[in-house]
Amino acid sequence: MLLIKNCKICDPYSIYEDQQDILIENGTIKEIAPDIAVNDGECSEVIDASGLVAAPGFVDVHTHFRDPGFPNKETIHTGALAAARGGYTSVVCMANTSPAVDNAETLKYVMEEAAKEQIHIYQAATVTVGRNGEALVDMEDLKGHGAAGFTDDGSPILSDEVTLAAMEKAANLNAVLSFHEEDPAYIGVSGVNDGPAAEALDIKGAGRKAETTMVVRDLNYALKTKCKIDIQHVSAAESVEFIRQAKLKDTDGLIHAEATPNHFTLTEDAVSEYGTLAKINPPLRTEADRQAIINGLVDGTIDIIATDHAPHTSAEKEQEFPKAPSGIIGLETAFSLGFRELVQSGRMTLTGLIALMSTNPANLYSLNAGRIKIGAPADIVLLSTETNTKYDHFESRSSNSPFLGQTLPGAVFATICSGNVVFRRKI
Ligand SMILES: [Zn+2]
Repeated sequence: MLLIKNCKICDPYSIYEDQQDILIENGTIKEIAPDIAVNDGECSEVIDASGLVAAPGFVDVHTHFRDPGFPNKETIHTGALAAARGGYTSVVCMANTSPAVDNAETLKYVMEEAAKEQIHIYQAATVTVGRNGEALVDMEDLKGHGAAGFTDDGSPILSDEVTLAAMEKAANLNAVLSFHEEDPAYIGVSGVNDGPAAEALDIKGAGRKAETTMVVRDLNYALKTKCKIDIQHVSAAESVEFIRQAKLKDTDGLIHAEATPNHFTLTEDAVSEYGTLAKINPPLRTEADRQAIINGLVDGTIDIIATDHAPHTSAEKEQEFPKAPSGIIGLETAFSLGFRELVQSGRMTLTGLIALMSTNPANLYSLNAGRIKIGAPADIVLLSTETNTKYDHFESRSSNSPFLGQTLPGAVFATICSGNVVFRRKI
């Protein structure tokens, strides 16, 4: 048994007043009460969590562990360590590995490797074979083999026919489809907004229509086919408004949307400051876009914070801008950025942030996660809102982050998954 003493519990669906103790047995929350007494030697560990908040472990529905294909960027093991340090107890990995997860054999490989780790790692499969936007994968077979959902993330699905067919099939299977919305017709060089930062680099960047045109199409198709969709990494103010309007018509809870901490923290100015470290797809845009995304998070239009943790090596990021790959690692800094930009700024409560980082993403994939209550899995993160964290190193194998070396507010003190302490902050 494990006993957490004197914590303040933050659970979006429950109200716990005062300090509580949480008793964990066999990976499950057994008791929650103000002062739980146990006999000597009954618990393997007693954690004094005075001054800390206990929240349900974070759930990331958009992460890239690079195995198979690119273990020099991230392995399933180093990815799991990075997740645990960030307070994440469940992650859904994207399918743009090499080979892509478009077949049962590759899916099985990842799931076997994932089972060796101490957090819950789920794997999405691709929507189309080889992520080429043409032939659909065998969704039924892949779902039967354990695919958490389906996405061609990293690439758009340009064909209307293929997208409609995918949604019809996914609706039948009650599977989630996640969409990376970027039409290359509106993109010169990807990873930078088509604005001042791109002009400074003397290139044509990625226009906002690249995203908004595809968002409109897929919102309409989702309502038509009754397919559950997740619009990934929203970057443009117009997209937020289109999602808001579509949700008014969505009586079935089909439409979900993600924002990354990058998009609600930074603007295209970061490209001028951090160069390729701020190169992401879709790109960082303007302050008005950033504010629209925050407003969307506040009013529930965007219901999920997802990291889009995207590891790349230093050598790759040191190339000239057009050649460098897009992506920022995000698992370890997500809580600090959400806390600073959304809670400390006065835009939402800590409970609101926990819903966006844990409860809502767990609900999207119907995971038994995202709650602190008796009988729930003991997936818990102990947070401090009073302590800063200096991000001078990462557990991730890669360190492509503009936040490397920065001190940010908030700290993950410990991450507990299935009743095991899987991360402890070094004091
Ligand atoms: Zn993406």
